[in-house]
Amino acid sequence: MNSEERVFIGLGSNIGHRRSNCCKAAETLGEAISVKLTNMSHLYESAPWGVLGQRPFVNAVVEVRTTLGPLGLLVLLKGIERELGRGRGRRWGPRVIDLDLLFFGRRIVKGQTLTVPHARVHERGFALLPILDIAPDFIHPVFNVSMRGLYRRLRSRAAVKRLP
Ligand code: ATP
Ligand code: CA
Ligand code: CA
Repeated sequence: MNSEERVFIGLGSNIGHRRSNCCKAAETLGEAISVKLTNMSHLYESAPWGVLGQRPFVNAVVEVRTTLGPLGLLVLLKGIERELGRGRGRRWGPRVIDLDLLFFGRRIVKGQTLTVPHARVHERGFALLPILDIAPDFIHPVFNVSMRGLYRRLRSRAAVKRLP
């Protein structure tokens, strides 16, 4: 793996065995030929975001090294979502697994199918809190603020708790 860029992927599940779904997704990602899994956060439980009235999510963040580019990685993530049984569902609705590309090093991508850094990562405790486990000093390349700083700025931090 020759890329030195730190890549972070957010995992979320609120259907079925939520923990296993997250762990299986991380494992599958690590088995991909072009990806090496280098770190994983603790697992967290979070209240649903955007669409209320659904089961809480289990969330985690993994760090990988990859020889793929951002779009290639997105294609891989979507393939793993399908492989784990994610069908078509509404945005922010219930899902077996959701894999979001949060950061690709310091790269900024604004395309039709991909925005990196993820457009809402800085508003989400369920993404920031897991990142704090593995990369508290990583700097958001658009806001130039560390993950720790972004988490401190969050208005609502209550709804995310670490699972035992
Ligand atoms: P959110 O993006 O707010 O977390 P979501 O995960 O529910 O919402 P999805 O239905 O999983 O949204 O994805 C919708 C589309 O978002 C995807 O088809 C993908 O092309 C696009 N997308 C744009 N930027 C990203 C990114 N950084 N990571 C993953 N998908 C992205
Ligand atoms: Ca998402
Ligand atoms: Ca997604």
